[in-house]
This record gives sequence, C-alpha cells and structure tokens, in this order.
Amino acid sequence: MIVGIDFGTTNTLIGYVDRSLRPQIIVNERGSRITPTVVHFKNEKQVLVGELAKSQMLIKPHQTILRVKRRMGSDQNYEIFKEIFNPSEIASFVFRKCKNFASEFLGEPVEKIVVTVPAYFDDNQRQAVAMSAKLAGLQVVKLLNEPTAAALAYEMENDSEKIILVLDFGGGTFDITLMRYQDSVYQVLVTGGSTSLGGFDFDQVLVDWIVETVKNEKFIDLSKDPIALQQIYNHAEQAKIDLSVVAETSIVIPYVALSPEYGPVHVNLNLSRERFENLTKHLLERAKQLIIDVLKEASLPPEKVDLIVFSGGTSRMPAFRRIVTELFPNSQILSEINPDEVVALGAARMAAIIDGRLKSIELRDVVAHSLGVFDDDGQFVPIIDRGTVYPTIATKIFTNTRDDQDKVLIKILQKRDEELVELGDFQLTFAKKWQKEEAAIAVSFNITHDGILTVTAEEMNTGEAQDVTIQGHLAEIRVPTPDQARLSLLNKIEVL
Ligand code: AMP
Repeated sequence: MIVGIDFGTTNTLIGYVDRSLRPQIIVNERGSRITPTVVHFKNEKQVLVGELAKSQMLIKPHQTILRVKRRMGSDQNYEIFKEIFNPSEIASFVFRKCKNFASEFLGEPVEKIVVTVPAYFDDNQRQAVAMSAKLAGLQVVKLLNEPTAAALAYEMENDSEKIILVLDFGGGTFDITLMRYQDSVYQVLVTGGSTSLGGFDFDQVLVDWIVETVKNEKFIDLSKDPIALQQIYNHAEQAKIDLSVVAETSIVIPYVALSPEYGPVHVNLNLSRERFENLTKHLLERAKQLIIDVLKEASLPPEKVDLIVFSGGTSRMPAFRRIVTELFPNSQILSEINPDEVVALGAARMAAIIDGRLKSIELRDVVAHSLGVFDDDGQFVPIIDRGTVYPTIATKIFTNTRDDQDKVLIKILQKRDEELVELGDFQLTFAKKWQKEEAAIAVSFNITHDGILTVTAEEMNTGEAQDVTIQGHLAEIRVPTPDQARLSLLNKIEVL
C-alpha cells in the first residue's frame, strides 16, 4: 500500500486510506497521531526520533536536531559526534521512523510514499526531501504540494466549479493557494503568502514580552540565558495554544534562573487572549494583507471564493479565523478535518488515487518562482513569470556582447523571493566567430504538463542549437543514487 507523509517542520504525520476508502492517520508506536520532526543522537550508533528526541532537546541540545526541513536542499550540514550529516541524511531518520511504525501498523512493509512539500519549495529542496525518503528505503511516487494536499483531503461532492482558498498557516510560514476545482481537475490559480510569517513569530512576541516583564520586575535579563530562554519559548508556545481555547491563561515557570541579588527567579504571569491579540496585532494584520494580495493578484472578489480550507496549527487562532470570516462572509469554511492532519490525509488520498483505489483526478499547478537566465551584465532576465500556468513555453531573444565571440553560457535560474537559485547551465558554441550584437540567440523555456523544464538556446541565423532538461524542477523528481558508503553508514545507525 502507498501511504502519504506530511513531512513537517515541527511534526510529521502519515496517512493511509482504509478498506472502507476513508483517509486515516497512522498512529506511531506510542499511540500518537503526530511524530515530532526531531532527531536526537543518543550515541554514534543510535538515534531517537519523535517525542523521545524532543524530550532530550533541553538536556542535550548539541545532539538534538530540530526543524531540519528548513535546511533541506541547503549545504548547512550538522556535525554530531565528529561525523558530518547533510540535512537529507538527518531527515532520512525521520522517514525511517515513519516507515517502521507505519509498516508495523499496517502489517505489511511500506515501500512507496506520497510526500508533501511546501508549494514554494524549489527543485533543490524537493530533491533533498525525495533523497531523504530514498535513504530510508522508500520510493517517492509523488511529491505533492501541501496546499493541494489540503484541498484533496476534502472530497468534492459534485463536479460543479468551485473556487477553493487554502490557508496553510504553520510554524514558520503562511502559504496561501487559490484553486479552481471542476470535473476532478484541480487547477492552482494563484499562490502567495510568506515564508517568514508563522506561529514562531507569535511565540517570539510572547517571549519578548515575558523577558521584558521579568526584566522590569526582577531586574534580570533572561535573554542572555539560553536554558531559561528555551523554557520561556516552550511556555510561550503553550500559552499561545491555550489562548486558542480559553480567554485567559497563566505562564508559570518556577526557578527559571538564579539572580545573584534576588536568588531564584520565577515567572508567574497572567495573559488574556485580548492582550495577546493586541501584542500580535501587526502579525495578524500582515496575514490579512497577504490574503488580500492573493485575491488582488487573481482579480477575484471575496464572494467568488466558495470554500476555505484551513491547514497548519496557527490557523486555529481565533483572531485569524475572525479575520477570515470577516473577509469572506459568504464562503463555506471547511473545518471538519483537524488542520494539523489535513495535509497528511490529503496525501493519503493522493496515494490511494495512485494506487487505483480512488477515482483519478488531475492536478494543474502554477510556476511558484520566476525562471530565467543571466544576461551578459549578470542581470536576471525572467523568461517564465511566477504564477504562470503550465504546460507553457516562452522565448526571449538575446544577442552577443563581444567581438569574436564563439560561445555563450546559458545559466538557468529560479528567483525565490529575492534570492537567485541556479538550476543548471550549458554552453552554446558557434562554428563562426560573431562580432558584437551580430548573433540572435533565442532562449526558450518549455515546461511540460508534468513539470519538466527544458531550456533550448538557438542561434537563429545558423540554426545551431543546444538544450538541457532540468529534471523534476517543479513536480516530479529524479533522485540520484545515494552514495553507497553514506548509505551503509546511515544503515548502521539504529532508529528508535
Ligand atoms: P504546523 O507547522 O502546521 O505544524 O504548525 C505548527 C504551529 O502551529 C506552531 O507554531 C504551533 O505553536 C501552532 N499551533 C498549534 N496548535 C495551535 C493552536 N491551537 N493555536 C495556535 N497555534 C497553534
């Protein structure tokens, strides 16, 4: 059976579709529906993943890895017990853990998975996630965008057109996706949001407030004390979560630090939801503006949105829900599915669709990041703009900038926020030497329906051409064979 995995920044969940074709969450060996995405190295040969790892965070922070998802596809490695691990290798322990308990739960070995990734993940990040699964002995049959998965979790009742807004408000990001559904086709219309707004920002406001209050009352600066600070973070997050259900809560942290003048310092503060909402007004306002921006980009008035899907823990905040109901008074809010589980359950449905157990659907997406090339001055020239629906093809004409030029280097780039990520390059060589501005080089970007990008450069006078295919640039990923030495090193480490 193929299962669906929501590999999250904070927690990882697995879903499957049961015999009566209902998507369900697979519980881990502790009976828990969520497994914290935390890896703790007990020693060189054993790692703990999940709750047990999380409980080691305070005691042995240097052997404990949090939020590895944020480093996927980067070269920010981890050094543990003098061994260097890349982010994919660390995440592979999380996948191995999932494989183990899911196989146990289902009574059959799990070998194939659908994995969800943020819609804004670029090629490198997607490939890094797929590599993690591969290192854990799992084959990724599909990488599914998280908002699409959230929308899939809800079965559409009939085939009439519906506009769906997915609001995925997680720990570190706020992902907004507007889609159209009709006749089993899900078409992404516009994506937006922010990769720097999420639940952690709300925690940070509370942490700053606690530190400031303690400083004023007890004359001690806890921001300089990492252990105290970690405890404050944990309590701040808990208080924030409590305030989603109760109107008032207390933050009590006994013996948080020792003041040289006043002895033991305790935190004992009351916080009302109203106060919390006031403290975080700027964050809520930003979230609201991001939703408005997406509607604007789609040129769609709010009353055209039929359904709203909430995903991510932060979407539970009453103030956020209030903003959404105020913006969309006529839309139907789908809230039966727990926002923490909606992505995993959608991934499970996708897995069952691929398995042939559920009716097939078609997914059509947009390009999440502009794609283009460097011109001769080193300036980024976009060829396919962000938000373009694919399949698509686009061409721009360039010329050469030097005399006696017999080659050009085409560098293919993706523009992520303000950062440029290189996807590949190739050289077009000419039989003759062109004088300055004589050559006419047509650079075409072609994205097929399954998201594969081919870039072609052709000198239009001579027809000399060269191309390159960037595998898995958007949707599907071809993962290289793992290094056997690394694989055997990882396999020698037991995952508990
Ligand atoms: P996710 O990335 O979807 O796992 O979301 C995790 C974020 O949601 C964290 O910042 C949590 O603190 C936050 N969160 C979880 N439950 C709640 C809740 N009931 N109210 C507010 N925030 C929550």
